[in-house]
This record gives sequence, structure tokens and C-alpha cells, in this order.
Amino acid sequence: MTTTSQSPSVSVLKGVGAAMVNKLERLGIATLQDLLFHLPTRYQDRTSVKTIAQLQVGDEAVVEAQVMLNEIKLAKKRTLLCRIKDDSGASLTLRFFHFSAAQKNNLAQGRTIRCFGEVRPGPNGLEMVHPEYKVTDEDMPAVTEQSLTPVYPMTEGLQQGRVRALIAQALDWLKSGELVELLPSHIRQQWALPNLQKSLLYLHAPPANADIQALASGLHPAQRRLALEELLAHHLSLLNIRRKIQSSVSAAFTQPGVLCAQFLAQLPFTLTNAQQRVGRDIAQDLTKSIPMLRLVQGDVGSGKTVVAALAALQAVENNCQAAIMAPTEILAEQHLINFSSWFEPLGITVSMLSGKIKGKKRESELEKLASGTTQLVVGTHALFQDSVIFNNLGLVVIDEQHRFGVDQRLNLREKGIDAGQAVHQLIMTATPIPRTLTMSAYADLDNSIIDELPPGRTPVKTVVIGDDRREQVIARVRKACLEKRQVYWVCTLIEESDALQCQAAEVTAEQLQQQLPQLRIGLVHGRMKAAEKASVMQQFKGGHGGYQLDLLVATTVIEVGVDVPNASVMIIENPERLGLSQLHQLRGRVGRGSVESFCLLMYRAPLSYTAKQRLQIMRETTDGFKIAEKDLEIRGPGEVLGTKQTGQMQFKIADLQRDADLLDKVQELAQEVNTNLALAASITERWLSSNERYGQV
Ligand code: ADP
Ligand code: MG
Repeated sequence: MTTTSQSPSVSVLKGVGAAMVNKLERLGIATLQDLLFHLPTRYQDRTSVKTIAQLQVGDEAVVEAQVMLNEIKLAKKRTLLCRIKDDSGASLTLRFFHFSAAQKNNLAQGRTIRCFGEVRPGPNGLEMVHPEYKVTDEDMPAVTEQSLTPVYPMTEGLQQGRVRALIAQALDWLKSGELVELLPSHIRQQWALPNLQKSLLYLHAPPANADIQALASGLHPAQRRLALEELLAHHLSLLNIRRKIQSSVSAAFTQPGVLCAQFLAQLPFTLTNAQQRVGRDIAQDLTKSIPMLRLVQGDVGSGKTVVAALAALQAVENNCQAAIMAPTEILAEQHLINFSSWFEPLGITVSMLSGKIKGKKRESELEKLASGTTQLVVGTHALFQDSVIFNNLGLVVIDEQHRFGVDQRLNLREKGIDAGQAVHQLIMTATPIPRTLTMSAYADLDNSIIDELPPGRTPVKTVVIGDDRREQVIARVRKACLEKRQVYWVCTLIEESDALQCQAAEVTAEQLQQQLPQLRIGLVHGRMKAAEKASVMQQFKGGHGGYQLDLLVATTVIEVGVDVPNASVMIIENPERLGLSQLHQLRGRVGRGSVESFCLLMYRAPLSYTAKQRLQIMRETTDGFKIAEKDLEIRGPGEVLGTKQTGQMQFKIADLQRDADLLDKVQELAQEVNTNLALAASITERWLSSNERYGQV
């Protein structure tokens, strides 16, 4: 068996010139193989002739009948109406808005025609608008189709008939055996997978008796086989980068863990069982000279930061530097505060690097990183600019992974290798990720889950309320603040525009200040300078002299990671505009202290039925894993992972939700296929275009 999958360009097909090549390109079709993987979205049944009496509205059917009447109506539009009748005695109207004189003559009274179209209700009974038709004569009877007729996804200027004809040519090429089967026969037997050629022939031309139901739902074995191979290709691609990284050598952190013990002793709490378990997974990984590649998932507030701190201490104790990357300045600042207070008593030098640190200060920070003075650095993605040189980087922690795209994540990794030393990598997600996505988009990572919250948390009470009760909400805010609690007020907007969002937040802050003159109100939004934002956050969080802001009006910039335990009320305006995972993230900012917390989802009335259902889920559960599953169900993987992240997760045939049950099989299959790397490479090459193949630098 050959293990390269060469496929000629579509330009080898008859009638395909430069213009057609362009059109096909818009559908992502460049080769004959692409054309074959361009599967029908549905099928028409033209394999039998129905009687007109059998027809029902919505049917797509072939009928054969005699023309009874043929006339041009001059109503609003010049229309050709043609009435036909078959042996069942029932009649049907054919309606044409565009027609030639020849057509009118062709459909002359008394002729027998065979036509195909969708049945619709008309003013005088059933009709077909612009049906396909053929005049049939005694000596030239119409042929009935032997197989179901495929209907393909379309692009402008490319007609169904044209695509069908091209695919028919590609099927001839397929029948000549040119497209090699890549799955070894013993695997196909073991998993009962139909072969590639048969699957494709079947899907482009299903027999008359095919199970249309199964085909429509995408669950036919021929479809499943292709989806499986495609998922396998993506999986293998991620495993490939994992293999590349893990074939390099990293520093093994084998020192006994004195720093960790000291750190734990000074913490005001003990770790939860889940934190301990995940901490052990990581500590184990770090003792090896194979670079760690681990994903830590934990619900908001589950205490991921402490786990990251333990990993960093292990690196430092072994004379390596550790870097923690956060997605925003605010979060990086907060890490700086936490890590400094934890680590400086242990004699560890902590510093920060971000976009806003410039000039002399930046130079001195760079110098400290290069010389090794800095042992732990926190920062934003500015940490990974070319100008940043580490002395001996041993561990990278990427916090709140949701904000970074798959490609960004992989770039960082490659950077680690480029630098000559493979660093250990710990990825921490902002919210739980549904299992299907962990198994696909994160297949390159080992997975640990912190599935327990620290004790003493009272679950946030969530209330769904219409904005016609804004006055009541404001009264509630006043009361909470007078009781020395703090409040978040989150503005979201219908408009996508960042500028408008910020403006809305400004307006809201002003209005609230008028309505609540006795409260100290602050504002943070995405257009403020990082230093301004940080300073407002600091006032809200407070220092030794207590907090300086009662109410914080914010856009969704506060979504990630901010930790102010005294804040126990959150208002979210227009929550119906946000994804459930995002709402969950936001809500996670409250409920961090011992008092009961509230989250008020203040929607703009009236609310659609589905929107109501979605907000209902927020009311019913605070379990991030459940919410993530629902979010996936409702919005699909693109939205859940963020568009950036799915840039590289476009499937031609597979559908993560529909084919979720294949993922276990895919994992198992990948292990087996990976024993033959050339084969694995062929499979990825077949399904992923060169720029989609992860880690093929
Ligand atoms: P997240 O997982 O959302 O990043 P954090 O690491 O910010 O959560 O932790 C949330 C809060 O819980 C912090 O104030 C942290 O100090 C506290 N915390 C973490 N672990 C524990 C624990 N085992 N017991 C009590 N409080 C804890
Ligand atoms: Mg966090």
C-alpha cells in the first residue's frame, strides 16, 4: 500500500477552466479528492414516478402526466401556467415566471411530460414552480434514475447540475482506484468500517433503497467512516506536535520540594483533595526530562493559582526560571500581587513584564530575566517577544487558556523548542471545557481536573429579572453597599463595537452615580489605559486601609480571574447577549467570600423562548462543567472555544456534536495508527491542508 495521497487538481476535469477553478476554490475545493469530500447536504428521490394523487405539499417528486392546458397569464408578472393530469385523475399546475416561446410551444396540449419539483400549495390546488421537465415520446421514454440525486452545498454562480457533473467525473477517477485506502484492512475489519471508495460512491450516488433517514442525520456508516477518518487526522496532527515536543529534553526537577513545603505551611488554608491530586500529577511530570504538556481544568474559583504556584516553586528549587502568562494586564497585575506576597518571604525574586512596561524599567526587567536574577516572571503575551531572553526557563504556565488561540498556544511551544531547551508547559483553562472539545482540540495535552471548590463557599444565588424592574435592582445595590458589601455592574451591549460598549459603560456609571449619590462608583473598560484600569481595580480590591470603591461598573473585561472576595453582588445587563460559559465566568467573580452572593441577570424584555431557557440554566446550576456542555449544545464548538481557536478546527465532514461518540474510538485508533508514522502522516496530509497541520513547521 502506498502511503502518499496524491490527488490531481480539479483542472484535469473536462470543462474546468480558470473561472471554474476559482469558483471551486471558494468552496475549498482544489483537488479531485476535495471534490469527492464535498458531500451532499441532502438527497432527492427521483428513482420512482409518483402519481399526482399521491403528492403532498413539501414533497419533491417525479410525476409523468399529460398537458391539459397551456396559457400565459398577465397578472402582476407574465406567467406561463401549464396544467397537467395523470392516470390517477388528479391534476397539477406548473408555473413559470421565466420562459421562452419555444418552451411554451414545447409544453403543448396533449404532450406527455415528466417533471420533477417541489410541491407547493397554489390558488387552484397543488403546483410546482419552475420544475425540471422533459417531454417524453413513445419512442423516447424518460429514464428513471437508478440512485438518489445528491444536492450539494452551493456557491454563487455554480449550479447544482454543474457540480453533479464534475463529481460524476471525479467518481470515475475514484472507480479507477486512484484514491488509496489509508486505513489498514485489519483496522477496518476490527471497527467494521466500510472502505473509502465504497463509502464515497455510496454517498454521492446512494441506491434507490438507501436509508434516507440515516443519511439525513449523518449517521450512515459511510458518513461515519469518513467523519472518523477526519477526526483521526486532526487527532494525529495534535499527537504529532506532542511527539515532537516530547522528543526533546527538558530539565528534570527532582529536588525534594522544600520550597513547596514552606509555601504550603504559610498558606492560610489547606489544599482541597482535588488541588492535591492535580498538584501531584504536575509534580510527577516535572521530575521527568520529558517536557510536561498538561491541561488543568477547574471551575472558576477552584483554586488553580495555588496549583500553578506549586509548579513554579518546583522549577525555582531546581534552579530554573518559571513564567506565568495571563491574557490581560489586569490579571497579570493580580498574579504579581499574589505571587509576590507568597514568594518573596521565601526569598524568591518575582517580577512582571507586560506591554505597558516600557523604557528603562523594561530594560532592567529584561536584564534581570537574562541574568537569572528574576526567578518567577508574570506577564502577558509580551513575555514571548523575541527580545525577551531567559537565563534558564524551565516552566511556562499559561493561565486562562480560553483567551489564547490554538495557534498561539502552539507557537509558544515551538518557541520553547527553538530556544534550545524544551520547557515544561502547564495550561490552565478559564472555565471547564466539554469533554468532546478536550478530546479533540486539546488532544495534545494530558488532562487534570480540579473538580472540587474550596470549602465554605456559599453558592451564588442567581435571579433572572427584566430591566423594567431596574429601580428595584438599584435599591438592592444600595442596600448591599450600605451593608459594606461590594457590587459589580456589568454592561454588555447589543453592538459588537468595543467603542460603543465602553461608551455604554460610561453612561451607565454616570447614571448610577446620580441615582446612588452616597456610593463610591468606579469604572473599568477595555479602552482605558492599562495603568488606569489597574488603578481602578486596585481601589475596588482595596489595600490595608480598606476598599475605596463600593460599586464597579465594567464591561466584560473583568470576566477573567479577578478576585475580590468582599464583592458579593453582580448585576449583568443584557445577559441574553452572552454565551453561558461567559456568564458563568462573570458570575464566578462573586461568591468568593463567606456571605451569600447574588447574581442578577437583568435582561431586556421581552425575551425569546430560547433565551429564557438559556438564562434558566444559569439559575439552575453553578456547575461549570454542566454549563459548558449546554453552551456547546446551544452554540457549537466555534463559539465555545472562541473563533480564534477554531480557525484550525474546521471539519469538512465531521461534526463534533453529532460525532461525539466517535472520539473514544478515534483516540484508540490513533494509538494504533501511530505505530506507523508514515501512515499517520498520510492521513493528516489527506485531511488537513498544509497550514492546518499542527506543528509541521
Ligand atoms: P481560579 O481557579 O478561578 O483561578 P483562584 O486560584 O483565583 O481560582 O482561587 C480563588 C480563591 O480561592 C482565591 O482567593 C484563593 O486564595 C482561594 N483558595 C484557593 N484554594 C483554596 C483552598 N484550598 N481553601 C480555601 N481557599 C482557597
Ligand atoms: Mg485564575
